[in-house]
Amino acid sequence: MTGHLAVPASDPSVASAAAPIVWTPPDRQQAIELLAAEGDELAWLLATAAALRDAGKGRVVTYSRKVFIPLTNLCRDSCGYCTFVRRPGDPLARTLEPEEVLAIARAGAAAGCKEALFSLGDKPERRHPEHRAWLAARGYRTTLEYLAAMCRLVLDETGLLPHANPGVLSPEDIALLRPVNISMGIMLESISERLLARGQAHWASPDKVPAVRLATIRAAGEQRVAFTTGILIGIGETAAERVDALLAIRDLHAAYGHIQEVIVQNFRAKPDIRMRDWPEPSELDMLRTIAVARLLLGPAMNLQAPPNLALDSYARYLRAGINDWGGVSPVTPDHINPERPWPAIERLARASAAEGFTLRERLALYPEYVRARPEFVPEPLRARVRAWTGPDGLVPAGALAGPHPPPRAEGRGGEPGSEH
Ligand code: SF4
Repeated sequence: MTGHLAVPASDPSVASAAAPIVWTPPDRQQAIELLAAEGDELAWLLATAAALRDAGKGRVVTYSRKVFIPLTNLCRDSCGYCTFVRRPGDPLARTLEPEEVLAIARAGAAAGCKEALFSLGDKPERRHPEHRAWLAARGYRTTLEYLAAMCRLVLDETGLLPHANPGVLSPEDIALLRPVNISMGIMLESISERLLARGQAHWASPDKVPAVRLATIRAAGEQRVAFTTGILIGIGETAAERVDALLAIRDLHAAYGHIQEVIVQNFRAKPDIRMRDWPEPSELDMLRTIAVARLLLGPAMNLQAPPNLALDSYARYLRAGINDWGGVSPVTPDHINPERPWPAIERLARASAAEGFTLRERLALYPEYVRARPEFVPEPLRARVRAWTGPDGLVPAGALAGPHPPPRAEGRGGEPGSEH
């Protein structure tokens, strides 16, 4: 399949913000067929996706230097692939106390991190009375109230910029979290309602209803929150459903301009999950999906695949059109995929260079929002964003590591709700 896409033949090392890119995406049926591309068509798919990325982003691949704060591993859902979640009574069930949150954030700040990624289960208090009691003993009604307080604590005491990933959010939840988060996210994962059926990946997981997750992404757009979303491939979805999920994300971004990155993540089988015998998607499947995502989402979208989920081959994702590795922690393990530690940042830089790319650090806010979309940056956080970024909206090269300036140097965050 050729003829529906043309990209400039200019120097791909220069992002062509000034040069218009002639780009017509494949239609739905073409995209579905491309997910099975082989031979010459596969070569064309990968080359075209890479050229489109080069035209829009140049030969720079970014990452965010982050510390991972697993606020609670309790959750009301029961996703078939989840290793993060625990139930009350499990010795590994854990909700972090404020001082534990702060200790992790301080370690991150000392290691030069700039993002505090808060990951947590979805509304555990609705399922577990023990967790309701834990929250009430500390003066909170909901996990999201506690999350907002912990985001503020980290922001005020360490200066790290929170990025919360707490699951489904109402407009009121987003309004609560927005003043203390530089960006937020929820993976759409899949648009398939079939996966909610008994025995499927999202059985007994009310927060994985696709319409509910799309509503969260829409509400974030309405409130001008720079947002992360993406798809999880290999959990039982069809090729058509995979394409439809990408198209739904594209539609929401077209409406609000707020989706700053799209993640393509691959399912991994693990011994302690319900889907332990489920086949993993192949590397080829991952490459095809990344490339189709690039063709559908275009040259301007930031496209990410996590490097720790394909330790041997991750640099090849660059050949399929990604331009970002996501958050990389010099401090904490990945609590979602703990058996797959992140590659060290230096190793990531070397692997990127071997593919012809320069690794650059970004904030949890992408450079195009840093440079030209102030309405997406909560006012109290703007000074810190300015202090940490150069004219290109990225962290200046050479500032890759090292502790932060004093946390209060550029001002404290405002009160929750002050942005609205
Ligand atoms: S919603 Fe998230 S934390 Fe909860 S079970 Fe599903 S994947 Fe795990």
